[in-house]
Amino acid sequence: MKFDLDPLLRPHIANLQPYTSARDEYTGKEGVFLDANENPYGSITDQDYNRYPDPYQLELKAEIAKIKDVKPSHIFLGNGSDEAIDLLFRAFCNPGIDNVILLPPTYGMYEVSANINDVETRKVPLTEDFQLQPDKILAAVDAHTKIIFVCSPNNPSGNKVKRNDIIRLLQEFNGLVVVDEAYIDFSDEPSFTTELGKYGNLLVMQTFSKAWGLASLRLGMAFASKKMIKILNRIKPPYNISGLTQETVLAAIQNQDKVAKMTQDILAEKDFLQGELEKLDYIQKIHPTHANFLLVKIPNASHVYDDLIEEKIIVRNRSKVQLCEDCLRISVGTRSENEAFIQALKKIYTESFNL
Ligand SMILES: *Cc1c(COP(=O)(O)O)cnc(C)c1O
Repeated sequence: MKFDLDPLLRPHIANLQPYTSARDEYTGKEGVFLDANENPYGSITDQDYNRYPDPYQLELKAEIAKIKDVKPSHIFLGNGSDEAIDLLFRAFCNPGIDNVILLPPTYGMYEVSANINDVETRKVPLTEDFQLQPDKILAAVDAHTKIIFVCSPNNPSGNKVKRNDIIRLLQEFNGLVVVDEAYIDFSDEPSFTTELGKYGNLLVMQTFSKAWGLASLRLGMAFASKKMIKILNRIKPPYNISGLTQETVLAAIQNQDKVAKMTQDILAEKDFLQGELEKLDYIQKIHPTHANFLLVKIPNASHVYDDLIEEKIIVRNRSKVQLCEDCLRISVGTRSENEAFIQALKKIYTESFNL
């Protein structure tokens, strides 16, 4: 099946005249720049930030291209992955008309972004072991279904989704399949970026927020066909990635060994945390994860969550979420943080529940 993106696009986006800055016309670095109403003297800070940054982040994309083995023209950078999610709705989903398919329990931003954009969400739950139900997903598709959001490894369950199920959606769904790989660095699963050449309807998302430890900088990546990247670039705010972020991540990429080291440390700490939890016989289930968190089923989860906050230990309460009943999601911390959590948990069960 040859995939054609054009019919999916909202008509007014196809005809949109995007913002052009004077720097689109002159891309040299040398010159007398009197085009952008910048401050010619510099900045009030020690380092200068007075010039607008590269709107297409070409230097940074060249480096990302090398580490991800994807050509720069197939890379979009957003102010967090959340920006890419929002732009997809704005490019493809007509409010009040189109719909997207979500696979709960999953990352909450897909639904929030859909709601902000007044786009219907159709929910096809995962199975008990958090895998896709491809037949049901495909049955939920109609002529107005534009996007299916798949998250692998999934948040909050942490498991990887079966590759063949995603391939089947790519083959049989005539719309966009987003594969959110925010946690791919913690998994042994190869990225879906290797499938970009085969499937024009695939968009893979990754982020610098987790394994790279750069959540505060807000840098998300989307990998897709050239045509798709062009669309996202046309509708994004022109300077969506700050100069400071571009510089900092460019430097961070030269330090990539540290990512592998931190990732290994986090995975080792996950094993420690899991081992400690397994010793507590009131823990009902520790879901196996391929991410930097654990999903744990425990008695009286909401109560325990509140008590943990009293101890200034903050975890994520997922106990009201479909298929995650009585579950808390615990991000892996440092050894001392993990110990503090375990200690507080034991105290709560002893004091409140006599366990
Ligand atoms: C954390 C996370 C992200 C990252 O979002 P950013 O906006 O890049 O920080 C994306 N998707 C999922 C599923 C996540 O859990």
